[in-house]
Amino acid sequence: MFEYAPAPESVRPQIKEHYGLFVDGEFTDAADGADFKSVNPSTEEVLFTVAEAGEADVQAAVAAARRAQETVWGPMSGAERGKYLFRIARLLQEKAREFAVAESLDNGKPIKETRDFDVPTAAQHFFYHAGWADKLAYAGLGADPRPLGVIGQVIPWNFPLLMLAWKIAPALACGNTAVLKPAETTPLTALMFAELCQEADLPPGVVNILPGAGGTGAALVASAVDKVAFTGSTAVGRAIAKSIAGSKKKLTLELGGKAANIVFDDAPIDQAVEGIVNGIFFNQGHVCCAGSRLLVQESVADEVLARLKARVETLRVGDPLDKNTDIGAINSAEQLERITALTDTGRGEGAEVWQPDCDLPDRGFWFRPTVFTGVQQSMRIAKEEIFGPVLSVLTFRTPDEAIAKANNTPYGLSAGVWTEKGSKILWAAERLRAGVVWANTFNQFDAASPFGGLKESGYGREGGRQGLEAYLDV
Ligand code: NAP
Ligand code: MG
Repeated sequence: MFEYAPAPESVRPQIKEHYGLFVDGEFTDAADGADFKSVNPSTEEVLFTVAEAGEADVQAAVAAARRAQETVWGPMSGAERGKYLFRIARLLQEKAREFAVAESLDNGKPIKETRDFDVPTAAQHFFYHAGWADKLAYAGLGADPRPLGVIGQVIPWNFPLLMLAWKIAPALACGNTAVLKPAETTPLTALMFAELCQEADLPPGVVNILPGAGGTGAALVASAVDKVAFTGSTAVGRAIAKSIAGSKKKLTLELGGKAANIVFDDAPIDQAVEGIVNGIFFNQGHVCCAGSRLLVQESVADEVLARLKARVETLRVGDPLDKNTDIGAINSAEQLERITALTDTGRGEGAEVWQPDCDLPDRGFWFRPTVFTGVQQSMRIAKEEIFGPVLSVLTFRTPDEAIAKANNTPYGLSAGVWTEKGSKILWAAERLRAGVVWANTFNQFDAASPFGGLKESGYGREGGRQGLEAYLDV
């Protein structure tokens, strides 16, 4: 591999030492004075402290959101709401560099991803939904679809700003107001987004941000919101569904996945190898729709694996703020522990493990890209979501066997198909039980394209015309 000179990102965003909760357009401390720290997972240094929202703060934020919805945001014309969303989108673009660096610092993901994917895609979601705000009557959801009211939103740490955009942009476009809880380890870009809302002169109470841990999320779910939108693990999603069953609250759930990435023997192998790498090593594998199970046709398995390993040898693991870095830090010590424990079960169950011989930094949370071969469907590494840079490779002989193995999972979020034949793509896409099927590509997202799961991957869609339905009374 070529040795690259370091190419450190030079912009440093203004990170405050302490952030408050964002309620009714103002930053405030928690009613009980609680706060917590957010660390940089690539160095373990504390980045800032932030107020932790408790029950009383949740009530205050929901009350502010209710006032704003009933008196300002709900009655406002769609065209006016659209102007605010366009303003937010443009401000996000203007501050794209600062947001990208802040996200890399708080989350550990490489700057090339935050710069080229997270922040531009978040801005795209605001542009896209700004366009819908005055055209809801033409979305095919009835002549006069109404907002639901106040939306409680809880998001995970893997795409902090992007998941915020997926939640807040459609909610606001449809005339709702929002109370959002970012993940405990990654609140920074949500707080910067709150500052941006102030700069955009968004009416107070339309967006409220409540940093905290699981307890804050549970309090928000239990509060007087009209709808809960949750992205996170299937276990927590299930608990939320149980807790609000029988209430009038609506619910959408975007949960986990264990996607099959299927490589047929006629696939363009070099392209497929790029897709496999992108599928599992993008964002350190902290991706709900990651292609974490590679299903490769037996006749080409040796060739695919040899080229895959040669490619993974060239991935650069290290400083998230270096523009050459491909794989950054694992988001937290807890997540590193989970990845390590599941990887150990793979070894214990007899799968063969391979890792490139790369140096890891001394401090911070790191995990080498990992490829397991000889994986059986019964092994935990084939069944459970690892949510890290770990690929499990299985083989198949016939297309029917590929589909059977791909669908042999409680999840159903995404899948990939690699083949030269269009007919085989359509044949497979009809049979794969997954919300998204990518063909000869992987991990492609667009605000106009609905995203969401089947089975234990959840229900409801985000993005596109379909995503609006989750935020409207139709
Ligand atoms: P998680 O533990 O379920 O956490 C998700 C969010 O819920 C966090 O903000 C968390 O707070 C909060 N939370 C925890 N317990 C709660 C409770 N009892 N009530 C309400 N909220 C609660 O998930 P994670 O491990 O952070 O995130 C990874 C998971 O998200 C993976 O399974 C991944 O597949 C899934 N995901 C799905 C999608 C999708 O679109 N389908 C997208 C991204 C990620 P804390 O921050 O304090 O834990
Ligand atoms: Mg952090």
